[in-house]
Amino acid sequence: MTSDDTHQDIRDAVRRLCARFPGSYWQTLDRERAYPAEFVKALTDEGWLSVLIPEAYGGAGLPLTAAAAVLEEIHRSGGNGAACHAQMYTMGVVLRHGSEAQKQAWLPRIASGEIRLQAFGVTEPSSGVDTTRITTFARRDGDRYVVNGQKIWTSRAEHSDLMVLLCRTTPREESTRPSDGMSVLLVDMRQAKGAGLTIRPIRTMLNHATTELFFDDVEVPVANLVGEEGKGFRYILDGMNAERILIAAECIGDGRFFIERASAYAKAREVFGRPIGQNQGVQFPIARAHVQLEAAAGMVARAAALYDSAQPCGTEANMAKLLASEASWFAADMCIHTHGGFGFAEEYDIERKFRETRLYQTAPIPTNLILSHVATHVLGLPKSF
Ligand SMILES: Cc1cc2nc3c(=O)[nH]c(=O)nc-3n(C[C@H](O)[C@H](O)[C@H](O)COP(=O)(O)OP(=O)(O)OC[C@H]3O[C@@H](n4cnc5c(N)ncnc54)[C@H](O)[C@@H]3O)c2cc1C
Repeated sequence: MTSDDTHQDIRDAVRRLCARFPGSYWQTLDRERAYPAEFVKALTDEGWLSVLIPEAYGGAGLPLTAAAAVLEEIHRSGGNGAACHAQMYTMGVVLRHGSEAQKQAWLPRIASGEIRLQAFGVTEPSSGVDTTRITTFARRDGDRYVVNGQKIWTSRAEHSDLMVLLCRTTPREESTRPSDGMSVLLVDMRQAKGAGLTIRPIRTMLNHATTELFFDDVEVPVANLVGEEGKGFRYILDGMNAERILIAAECIGDGRFFIERASAYAKAREVFGRPIGQNQGVQFPIARAHVQLEAAAGMVARAAALYDSAQPCGTEANMAKLLASEASWFAADMCIHTHGGFGFAEEYDIERKFRETRLYQTAPIPTNLILSHVATHVLGLPKSF
């Protein structure tokens, strides 16, 4: 559940941590497009980024609902978990499909913060959301793969020691099914940088440390292949439910931030000799945002509960992400309306959060693709692609 009465001890602790990183901290980073290194270190030191790693590998071994509570509280406080949220769910690929040797080698060091696993390279410029058309290719050569190709929107690549990379090991046209022939490699960025991997930052409307990657004969040991060669797409899909649920929890946190800020401002700001929140034209959108957000939070909670009980949750995870990202976006727009001109002032944090929460209707999966999934997989409508 992500409604704000669950995991109260975790929520309180995360709120205390976030209070050390006020709006002025995020405003400075946003202005400079800088990475929140101190914030990520604090989260790591207090163990919040490793809540999903089992105790046997040095983590807390908590359920997804706990991770969702951590991210929701970060966003509710006005912060942004996007600088490090991938570490929570990306390690799941190693945990579920990696060999015991890989788990022993990486997970304890990820849990302790010695190694950062922040980067997740799937999207390519020419394939877009049609992932089976990726062309970045890993050619086997003895005990190593030689990787060539290009990725785009690989976030946090400059702040990560490891990357989970989806690439082709068999061309699409030679594979039995389009989703076959893709593999997951763990790329050690520290070795790859300067040895064929070029990272080019992309400046965006929000502070997201996202990049473009160019692979030019980058060597990766075969020991870094996760699971079986050619089955990588399935492993990545497996991890996407956790990703969607956690990002939906961030949207719930964003929505709560906007609603709390708008409510407080509408009570305090007086125009025409009374609080603006006394006008139904101002209070109804705030109430509507709350109603929509609670409905979305219910779906996030349902998806997370299914996930934690190891039941299928692909549809619920997708629906949770759609509802939560739309509810947070409605709340963001409402919050700007409520603040009048001050909604646009940097020091109020609202315009920044407005830009930040917009991302989640596009990434990690656009709303259209979720609607297409529901239309064809749930409702049985004819496929359009
Ligand atoms: C800031 C940021 C960070 C990101 N971080 C990462 C990351 O760390 N790792 C990573 O791998 N990716 C990352 N992404 C990529 C993100 O997941 C993609 O941008 C997203 O999935 C959309 O893909 P695209 O940009 O190629 O859009 P396109 O595939 O070009 O699609 C463009 C639009 O057309 C729509 N569309 C396409 N086909 C159809 C169809 N058949 N029916 C209806 N609508 C359709 C889409 O919904 C979309 O709105 C990030 C993106 C951003 C902007």
